Amino acid sequence: MAPSTPQQFASSGYQIEIAVQGYPGKAVCHGGLGWSTIVLMRGHGRVVLIDTGSFGQRQLIIDRLSAHGLQPSNVTDVILTHSHWDHSVNWVMFSKARIHIDGGELDWAVKEPWGLTPVPELYVRELAQSPQLQRIKAGDEVLPHLVAHRAPGHTPGHLIFVLHGEAHDLIFTGDAAKNRAEMLSLSADMTYDPAISRATMEMIWQLWRARPETILIPGHDLPMRIENSVPVYIGARKTGITAWFGETLDELHLFDLTGA
Ligand SMILES: [Zn+2]
Repeated sequence: MAPSTPQQFASSGYQIEIAVQGYPGKAVCHGGLGWSTIVLMRGHGRVVLIDTGSFGQRQLIIDRLSAHGLQPSNVTDVILTHSHWDHSVNWVMFSKARIHIDGGELDWAVKEPWGLTPVPELYVRELAQSPQLQRIKAGDEVLPHLVAHRAPGHTPGHLIFVLHGEAHDLIFTGDAAKNRAEMLSLSADMTYDPAISRATMEMIWQLWRARPETILIPGHDLPMRIENSVPVYIGARKTGITAWFGETLDELHLFDLTGA
């Protein structure tokens, strides 16, 4: 199984690429996978990442940038939906970028107790003191055509981002809506208040239905669009694990996690 070819979209003067495809699952005996969606956007003189994944995704990001003749130092803007480790820790890869995050989200994250939550304690503390930090808030047009919306529930200061295109919009939901099952059930797997998460997902549905063909890009699943009132996936999932169960490093056992 070879790495997948990234999905690409074009809108509002940006080339948009799903640099890493998020995955809607957890390990049975090993906790959360943290396989989150990372989006690369190029346009308007900017090189932008929406969320940055976690440590295991660093080389993937470098490879995707390299495919476009870019390096991490060429990234101008990193936009974080929220502070959790599997979306935020790689901000440190981008020494020249502005790091955008909701100011209230960061203030909350810095005060979270150490060692007990998915907040990466030291990374958010460094970010709070960094000259690269750009505190943003709901309603801001963070980049040309890209507007932040308040989306609490998963975390208190979670933002989603709507890219207003000529033909349709793209909505980047982070973990406010992690996957298709959450959007269909209006139930969240991780939330400090299920009612608040539900209200946020109802708000996302309103944004999604507002313009036909609008694409929703969740934090841990494939992109989707609405057809006949139902969310349908765009593109195919590609996920697997290889393991060394043999006697040499050449003997690899492949577990296909693509699912139905
Ligand atoms: Zn999260």
